[in-house]
Amino acid sequence: MKTTSNKMALIPKVYCSLFGHEYQVTKNVTSHVKEYTCKNCKKELTTDSNGNLTELTPTFREINVILERVYNSKTERLKEKAINSTTIYQHV
Ligand SMILES: [Zn+2]
Repeated sequence: MKTTSNKMALIPKVYCSLFGHEYQVTKNVTSHVKEYTCKNCKKELTTDSNGNLTELTPTFREINVILERVYNSKTERLKEKAINSTTIYQHV
């Protein structure tokens, strides 16, 4: 199965090497870290800890899963805080 998809991706890869990749955001991991996939060759990128784009390796995929979990629990806490502060401001 993998061999077939590689052959299929051969033409888009040539296209990408000529015109560049067309990355689309496929996942927002955190507000800074995103996952991208090329529309043509399906090459995947992600944002590393320095804010640079890097190839989405299985290691980065695992890191992103953890990051997303941490980020979601943080934003939920922030939302609670936001609700509390709104209540305070209403009294002022
Ligand atoms: Zn591409």
